[in-house]
Amino acid sequence: MDFALSPSLEALLARTRELMDAHVYPLEPVVAEKGFVGARAELLAAREACRRAGLWLPQMPEELGGMGLPFLEHAHMSEVLGRSLLGHYVFNCQAPDAGNMELLLEQGTEEQKDRFLKPLCAGQIRSCFSMTEPDRAGSNPTWLDTTATLEDGMWVINGRKWFTTAADGADFAIVMAVTEPDALPHQRASMILVPTSTPGFEHTRRIPIMGEEGSGWMSHSEITYRDCRVPEGNLLGGRGQGFLLAQHRLGPGRIHHCMRWIGLCERAFDLMCARAATRELAPGKPLGTRQMVQDWIATSRAEIDAARLYVQKAAWTIDQKGLYAARTEISCIKFFVANVLQQVVDRAIQTHGALGITEDTPLSAIFRHERGARIYDGPDEVHKYVVARRALKAHGLELGGGG
Ligand SMILES: Cc1cc2nc3c(=O)[nH]c(=O)nc-3n(C[C@H](O)[C@H](O)[C@H](O)COP(=O)(O)OP(=O)(O)OC[C@H]3O[C@@H](n4cnc5c(N)ncnc54)[C@H](O)[C@@H]3O)c2cc1C
Repeated sequence: MDFALSPSLEALLARTRELMDAHVYPLEPVVAEKGFVGARAELLAAREACRRAGLWLPQMPEELGGMGLPFLEHAHMSEVLGRSLLGHYVFNCQAPDAGNMELLLEQGTEEQKDRFLKPLCAGQIRSCFSMTEPDRAGSNPTWLDTTATLEDGMWVINGRKWFTTAADGADFAIVMAVTEPDALPHQRASMILVPTSTPGFEHTRRIPIMGEEGSGWMSHSEITYRDCRVPEGNLLGGRGQGFLLAQHRLGPGRIHHCMRWIGLCERAFDLMCARAATRELAPGKPLGTRQMVQDWIATSRAEIDAARLYVQKAAWTIDQKGLYAARTEISCIKFFVANVLQQVVDRAIQTHGALGITEDTPLSAIFRHERGARIYDGPDEVHKYVVARRALKAHGLELGGGG
């Protein structure tokens, strides 16, 4: 296996780092002070700079204004962008929009692409993905209360959703609702495109996460759908295909998240080393002279590198053999990298002492925003179950579908 990057990819990553230095890192204190919505003008200026530089929408085809990068190359770029919580947004490849773009590209009708996909790719609008419900276990997405019934050519949607990331200020939601209540569990729900201006789409609240409510793209909302009516043509994909499409959407999304987390790990690692090298416990005795701290550094280095290789292998498998062949690897990296991230950021915080839990370094924001990494896109335990189930099946033990 050749680990060398092609010269063109090296050049692309160097240009990405330059743009991160010039436009993204300087935005972090601005967003911390003004909030995401308050920093809108600065964020849009940074996005425009990336677009002008031709580093925009790396994951989408060129005809939609993107860079059309192969999956593995996008994974490498994702690590560079991931060093800042704002990187993917500024380059227009952020969750949940990136996943929604992929869905619309693959499943959307021409009309849906014109109305929803093109302005999303142009960065003119944002979107959200509304599947999880407060009253049902999100770990089992086949069990939903939200319904959509067809009346006079309109879907009438009723239900409650929460953790709809980026719903605040989004232009449309992709909603998972039960349209086929009598079908098998995996075939009951469908995806429906709902403009957020539709009467009956009620933005209930932004949910504070560890004390931070956030705003705009950097927030998670509770939504009530109350007799919310959209045309029949807003169905995305086929009736009853919601679960299948959601699984398909999450596969590549997990690689993107993992590479983003590795970028965050590297950022935390650099901060940890810098602090260990300079913070003196006594004159001439920096923290880094202590073996305990050396252990954190060495263990973190090994874990981050192992995580990166594993994610790249999964991305390579998707590129070479398709999503289905990579399903065990995708589950493994999802829980493995999320835990590496949590450990590395925690060690970096510990190395900083009290400073680590202030807002004077990016560490506490990273910890707060990414504690959810072990929960969203499938909690650790669900992925571990799936991996173990496949391994045990090869030895004759059938565990069935549920966790
Ligand atoms: C930051 C963040 C952003 C999110 N963004 C979105 C979004 O944009 N759109 C959206 O629809 N949803 C989103 N979610 C919701 C996310 O998908 C759910 O939180 C996730 O699926 C888990 O569902 P739950 O929270 O209902 O936990 P539950 O399903 O109630 O599970 C609780 C816990 O039980 C354990 N558990 C669950 N299943 C098993 C099992 N089989 N075996 C053993 N243990 C198990 C796990 O530890 C799990 O954490 C987001 C969540 C977070 C934290």
